[in-house]
Amino acid sequence: MTELTDFYQKISDFCGEIELCFGESMAKHTSFRIGGNAEVMAFPKTPEELARLLKMSALLDMKFAILGAGTNVLAPDEGIRGLVICLKDCLGGMEQLAEGRIRVMAGVTMTRAAVFASNLGLGGMEFAHGIPGTVGGGVYMNAGAYGGELCQIIESVDVMDYQGNIRRLSCEEMGFSYRHSRLEEEPGIVIGAVFRLTPKPVEEIKSRMKELQGKRAASQPLELPSAGSAFKRPVGGFAAALIDQAGLKGYQVGGAAISTKHAGFAVNMGGATAADVKALLQQVSDKVFQHSGIRIEPEVRIW
Ligand SMILES: Cc1cc2nc3c(=O)[nH]c(=O)nc-3n(C[C@H](O)[C@H](O)[C@H](O)COP(=O)(O)OP(=O)(O)OC[C@H]3O[C@@H](n4cnc5c(N)ncnc54)[C@H](O)[C@@H]3O)c2cc1C
Repeated sequence: MTELTDFYQKISDFCGEIELCFGESMAKHTSFRIGGNAEVMAFPKTPEELARLLKMSALLDMKFAILGAGTNVLAPDEGIRGLVICLKDCLGGMEQLAEGRIRVMAGVTMTRAAVFASNLGLGGMEFAHGIPGTVGGGVYMNAGAYGGELCQIIESVDVMDYQGNIRRLSCEEMGFSYRHSRLEEEPGIVIGAVFRLTPKPVEEIKSRMKELQGKRAASQPLELPSAGSAFKRPVGGFAAALIDQAGLKGYQVGGAAISTKHAGFAVNMGGATAADVKALLQQVSDKVFQHSGIRIEPEVRIW
């Protein structure tokens, strides 16, 4: 047995029942449809399985990264050495709690969570219905749309540290701000969250969700792979408007381009590489700065 297969055997033995893939394409797991292979990808179904993976990565000195639905990640062309822990559709489960609250596990998509809430006649989550990520990814970066942000409806978040211990943080303790939480500075994995919602007629909630879905379909290039808004909203303007004013709609680098439908979106026109997207974002940021004096920074997480 070679040294490498020996190492992978060790991983399999340690993981037992946990689902694993070796050499799994990141392009399959990111909405940009870009990225080389992850050396090992694991799909934990429970917090206990997740804690076991963290223990393994420490014991075998393997780097790890957490992936939700991959809708805000640009994965590298050369692939990822080490372990990618994918939580989408893995760490699952939702339950209704007392007083208009629901608990949702991190791997559930925000769309499913919003539909679950709407079926219970609980409003407040309508804005999140069309955000294609998981609750874990959404909490990590305080996802938001159409005037709503997750921090407006979060009561508490269960966070696992890298030793596998879980603690419950209040909304205030999560240190939320625009597209940011304290987890960006401190190690921690979102396991699940409790949302505090408001009773509302089911039809009213569903009609608002449908209205917002219609707005997205009309204004966003949903037919092309992307990671949503490519840039954060800068102080003093809107990224899409600044890009448009700089004449950059349709601007292309390799297979990556600024959408002609929505200037805030970088899209994969077919065969784009991570290098294409990175160069596109850099060039667009520079050109917008030259045009407006405002520097725009990527919202998409560049791995
Ligand atoms: C078509 C389209 C439209 C979009 N519209 C919006 C929008 O309206 N508003 C908006 O805010 N975003 C939008 N996005 C971006 C994206 O959907 C959100 O940022 C979403 O919150 C990302 O969730 P995810 O599960 O895909 O996270 P990923 O992309 O998988 O991960 C993003 C980051 O979160 C970290 N992470 C993921 N899960 C966890 C966890 N459980 N614990 C700790 N860290 C974690 C990852 O390590 C990574 O750094 C859009 C994207 C697309 C493709």
